Amino acid sequence: MKPALFTDRDGTINRDCPYCHDPADLFIFDDAVNIIRDYKSKGYLIIIITNQSGIARGFFTVREMEEFNNALLEKLREKGAGVDGIYFCPHHPGDNCTCRKPGDGLIRQAMKDFDIDLENSVVMGDRDDIEGELARKLGIKSIILHR
Ligand SMILES: [Mg+2]
Ligand SMILES: [Zn+2]
Repeated sequence: MKPALFTDRDGTINRDCPYCHDPADLFIFDDAVNIIRDYKSKGYLIIIITNQSGIARGFFTVREMEEFNNALLEKLREKGAGVDGIYFCPHHPGDNCTCRKPGDGLIRQAMKDFDIDLENSVVMGDRDDIEGELARKLGIKSIILHR
């Protein structure tokens, strides 16, 4: 069992576009990379959890999101900040799904795939009302990077 760093994608690891899906727009923040590296070195799993309502809105397809993710993951790997998993919510806010953050559905999905020590895990993001709120719901630590 390992703790995890659950990190947001847009606005946290990479600059928000918004509705990022073109790899040409990819810009990665160094502070996020350093935090990911630091948690990796402490034995944490690194798991991206991301709301991608642009899929439900028809702005981009799952395939386009995956191409963006692959470009991001490759750059992170090159920087020594490899990611163990990535989970996304494709729904519209009005869908009332359980996976859209600050809901905990994406973390629950990750916990089915990995043996995660939730109590000692951390949520990282750029929004206190999203990632901060999610961490509070779960009673775990959060790191909010104000951009
Ligand atoms: Mg964000
Ligand atoms: Zn969802």
